[in-house]
Amino acid sequence: MDYLAVFLSLKGRRAVVVGGGQVAARKVDALAKAGARVTVVAPQLLPQLAGRAAASDLEHVAAEFSPEQLDGVALAVAATDDAGVNGAVSRAAQERQIPVNVVDQPSLSSFIFPAIVDRSPLVVAVSSAGGAPVLARRVRAQIEALLPARLGVLARFMRERREKVRRALGALARRAFWERIAGGATASRVLAGDEAAAAEIFARELLNAQVGASEATGGSTPGEVYLIGAGPGAPDLLTLRALQLLQQADVILYDRLVPDALLERARRDAQRIFVGKEPGEHAHQARINELLVELARAGKRVARLKGGDPFVFGRGGEELEVLTAQGIPCLVVPGITAALGAAACAGIPLTHRQLSHSVTFVSGHAAFDGSLDWRSLARPAQTVVFYMGIAQFPRIVARLRAAGAAADEPAALIEQATLPGQRVLRSDLARIAELGRREQIASPALLIVGAVAALAGVEIAATAAGATAVAAEALA
Ligand code: SAH
Repeated sequence: MDYLAVFLSLKGRRAVVVGGGQVAARKVDALAKAGARVTVVAPQLLPQLAGRAAASDLEHVAAEFSPEQLDGVALAVAATDDAGVNGAVSRAAQERQIPVNVVDQPSLSSFIFPAIVDRSPLVVAVSSAGGAPVLARRVRAQIEALLPARLGVLARFMRERREKVRRALGALARRAFWERIAGGATASRVLAGDEAAAAEIFARELLNAQVGASEATGGSTPGEVYLIGAGPGAPDLLTLRALQLLQQADVILYDRLVPDALLERARRDAQRIFVGKEPGEHAHQARINELLVELARAGKRVARLKGGDPFVFGRGGEELEVLTAQGIPCLVVPGITAALGAAACAGIPLTHRQLSHSVTFVSGHAAFDGSLDWRSLARPAQTVVFYMGIAQFPRIVARLRAAGAAADEPAALIEQATLPGQRVLRSDLARIAELGRREQIASPALLIVGAVAALAGVEIAATAAGATAVAAEALA
C-alpha cells in the first residue's frame, strides 16, 4: 500500500489553499465541508470563490504565495498552474511538517485527496495512489450507485442510538443487534424515508434483544416484504433502490416476466421461488399471498419481484392489502412499466404537444367485461396502450373501430420491449391486427394506438450490444 488511508479531523482548524481557480474551488469545497477554516492565497479569485470570501465563508489573502503564510496551519493545498509556486508550497509545507497536497503531483504531495462517496457521516474514499484518478472516479461512481441515497440518514439514526444500546446490551449482544438493525426492517424504513416507523421497529427490537428473545429464537426479528417493480425486462432498467433491496433479500418470489439476468443481481445465497402464473390462473394468487405472509412471519426479508411496475396491472395492490392487514412491514419500489419501456424502444412519445394530450393504460383482460368506455378510448388526440391478451388484440381493434376510431389511426404492436427479441410493428387500425397475426406476435406484447404511434421511424436497439429490432412497415 502506497498510502495510509485515514480520515482527518479539520473542524475549526486552518487550511490554506494556494490558487484561485476551478481546481482550487473544488478543494475549498471539500475542506469547508469538513469544517476547516479555509484561507485562499491568490492574487485573483474566480467569482464563486470571491462570493464565498464576501460571505466570510473563507479568508482571502490577495497576494502571491510566501512560505510564512503556512505558519500555524493544519493543512496546505497547492492548486495553481504555476509549477514554481506549487513546488514552493510543497517545500514550505514539508519544512513545517504540514500535510500538503499539490494537485495532480503525487511526488510533491504528502497526502492525496481521494474520490469520495459522501453519505455523511458515512464516507467512502477511493484512491489509486494518484496513479489512475480516472479509474478511481469510475470505482467511486459504481459504489455511488450501489449505496442508498439515504444511507447517511441511517448512519445518523444509528449513531443517535448508540449510547442507548451500549447501556442496554452487553458487548456480544450489541454487535448482533446492530447487524440485525443494519440489515433489517429498521434500516429499510429509514432508507425509504419513514423514520417514525423505523423508530418504532427499532424500539421493539431493542426490547426484544433486552429480554433475550431475539438471540434465543433468532426468529423474532420481524420480516418484511419488498414489492419491487422489475421493469420491462432489460436488467439495467431496474431502479437503484430495487437493486439495493434485491441484494439484501433472503428470499425472492418472482413472476414469469422477470428475466434470469435480473435474478442474477440478487444475493447468491438468496432462495428463489418462481410463482409465475399462466394467464387466467387465478387461484394461484391466494397461494402467493399466503407464501408472502408465511415467509415474512418467519423473519425473512422477502423480495416480491414483478415485471414492470407492481401497481400497474401487477396485483401489487392486492398483495399490499393482505400484508398490511397482517401487520407485515412492506415497501413498494416502483418500476418502469412495460408501456414506458416499449414506447422508449420504439421511439414513440406517449404524449406530444400537437398529437396527444393524455395517455391511458388499458388491461386487455378487462376489455370486454363492460367496464370500458370505448367511445372515449376511440377519440383522437390521445394515446391508448393495451396491455395483455395477444389473443384479444384483433377484437380490441374492431371494438375501437366500431366506437368511431378512424381506419387510418396509427397503431404499433411491440413485442418483448427492451429485451433482445424486441420487435416493433407499425401500421394503422385497419391493418395492425392482420400484421400481428402474419408476424406471429407473441406474449409479452402490447398495443399502442394514437397519432404518436406513427412517429419516429428510428428503432432504438433493445440492448446496448445492439440487438436488431425488426420493423415491419406496413404503412409505407
Ligand atoms: N406490471 C406490469 C404489467 C403486467 S401485465 C408492468 O407494469 O409492465 C403483463 C403484460 O404487460 C403483458 O401481457 C404485456 O402486455 C405487457 N408487457 C410486460 N412486459 C412487456 C415487454 N417487455 N414488452 C411488451 N409488453 C410487455
